[in-house]
Amino acid sequence: MMKVSSLSSKAPEFLSVYAGLELDAESASLVALGVDLGILWVNAGWERFAAANRGGDVLERFGKGTSYLDGISGAQREHYESVLRGALADDEPHESFYECSTPETFRLLKLRALPFPGRGLLLEHTTVEERPHDRTPELPDERRFTDSRGLVLQCGNCRRTQDPAARSWHWVASWVDRQPSNTTHGVCAVCLGYYYGERLRKR
Ligand SMILES: [Zn+2]
Repeated sequence: MMKVSSLSSKAPEFLSVYAGLELDAESASLVALGVDLGILWVNAGWERFAAANRGGDVLERFGKGTSYLDGISGAQREHYESVLRGALADDEPHESFYECSTPETFRLLKLRALPFPGRGLLLEHTTVEERPHDRTPELPDERRFTDSRGLVLQCGNCRRTQDPAARSWHWVASWVDRQPSNTTHGVCAVCLGYYYGERLRKR
């Protein structure tokens, strides 16, 4: 597992407004980004969250020195890039909700992006809902879920998998952590409308 220290002493200068405010004691996961959206600093809450959630993957995807966007795939990457650059350019905080579920637990998180124009952003990730799934898990039937291109399509947001024949989306719990090697990520209709609808309507 990649080790990322919380580096309080090396926090970027723009976080000096929080001096003495114990950002490491915060239960929220905090990540400071530079104007290029590279990760400059994370708090201890981020490491606790990563450790509690099969941390190796989270710490590798969102390690210090990498771009925050590198941990996000597909249409969501484009969405978050526009959100974060927009918050910086407009000097307006941004808030949104996103799903980050495990096979056993439905989890909804809130992202708050606080801009420090010309210097960077502080991102706060807070868990707002955590409960067992009320979805019925489906069997990982690769034949059923493989499309005519030979690919399995999973929603990068809610992690449901598309049944290509019915064009419907299903909760295949065992593919949340570990997907078949022919898996590609897209966005299901419900997530597309909810997260990207406003932007699509503007086009
Ligand atoms: Zn979805």
